[in-house]
Amino acid sequence: MKIGIVGAAGRMGRMLIEAVLAAKGCELAGGSEQPGHAAMGDDLGALIGAKPLGLKIGDDAKALFARSDAVIDFTAPAAVPVHAKLAVERKVALVIGTTGLAPAHLEALAAAAKTVAVVRSANFSIGVNLLLGLTRQAARVLDESYDVEILEMHHRHKVDAPSGTALALGEAAAEGRQAELAKVSQRVRDGHTGPRRSGDIGFATLRGGDVVGEHAVIFATEGERIELAHKASTRAIFAKGAVRAALWTQGRKPGLYSMRDVLGFV
Ligand code: NAD
Repeated sequence: MKIGIVGAAGRMGRMLIEAVLAAKGCELAGGSEQPGHAAMGDDLGALIGAKPLGLKIGDDAKALFARSDAVIDFTAPAAVPVHAKLAVERKVALVIGTTGLAPAHLEALAAAAKTVAVVRSANFSIGVNLLLGLTRQAARVLDESYDVEILEMHHRHKVDAPSGTALALGEAAAEGRQAELAKVSQRVRDGHTGPRRSGDIGFATLRGGDVVGEHAVIFATEGERIELAHKASTRAIFAKGAVRAALWTQGRKPGLYSMRDVLGFV
């Protein structure tokens, strides 16, 4: 399978080059960047500090799509509809990691998904997606006598709390329990809070140092406690998951898919 990378000189783009080269069952079709990018014309191998691959960064996304079976896009929201159109024209599967998409961008992806397979995820880490599935399952099995608490830690520069992934874990636990997160979520505790309300899903946030991202989901009852946890130490995990998604699209029917589909969680 031939995999192309748009935005190949970006932080994730470089990780994606490495991930495609390391994966079995695929080869690198090439990489593109927006016109005028400083890395234009650079060899893709040199870009990641490896030996030259004989593939140069170009600005012709159309040509890249023409020689790819799947294209991975970790770029910017404005580029997404352009790439969605090219995917349809060339019947190429699309893997979208770009975040911050507005309704118009999502509509462009939904339209493309009528013709090709599109996988979109705000977090392509296989481990985090596995954690989401396990959390959903555990919440389905364990009744409300098990208190759910979600603990996350990130580096000192992170500006939002709880993290988007912590909230997604809360959604997964609520879904497993057939509850509505907004009604049971306890995002902050301070002062005289009174006893814990049965059925609540609690959140706790830690910030410090250079932690890439750590999440734990705790199910605590009288007599036992189950803890599911994930620790990220490099952004390479997102690239690895995206390449896995690209490989998964091979022979797949058109449609809009998520990592939940790729990993086979119901
Ligand atoms: P970055 O700025 O380092 O890289 C983005 C690259 O895309 C740049 O090189 C830029 O020139 C290029 N680009 C922009 N418009 C383009 C266009 N029209 N055609 C071709 N290239 C274009 O950013 P990054 O840290 O690599 O992140 C990129 C995106 O991926 C962001 O939206 C980020 O939030 C997202 N992201 C998602 C996940 C996930 O798991 N889904 C993980 C990490 C980052």
